Amino acid sequence: MLKERGVSVGLTTVYRSLQILEAAGEVDVVRNDEGEALYRLCAIDEHHHHIVCRSCGKTAEIRSRAIETWVREAGRRHGFSSVTHSVEVFGLCSACDQNEGRGV
Ligand SMILES: [Zn+2]
Ligand SMILES: [Zn+2]
Ligand SMILES: [Zn+2]
Repeated sequence: MLKERGVSVGLTTVYRSLQILEAAGEVDVVRNDEGEALYRLCAIDEHHHHIVCRSCGKTAEIRSRAIETWVREAGRRHGFSSVTHSVEVFGLCSACDQNEGRGV
């Protein structure tokens, strides 16, 4: 967005801005298998999770009542309150899966 406006920014500035947006809840952060942060502007405001392609980084949003219930129950069973969680699901998207199938 900044580039389109003709503003030249360094990568450090970009990451700092993204961290501010993250703190404000404007973007979601997904960590890939290597622990690298991927930033994503989410289409859903409500609490949700992501499924991430470990090959190309493509993400999709997923919501699961089962996960939310399970976390709450697990917390309660162990006497924990204010329980939070972070769940990320990794796999191969259909495009990458096809590429792998061709032996690329
Ligand atoms: Zn999201
Ligand atoms: Zn992919
Ligand atoms: Zn959740």
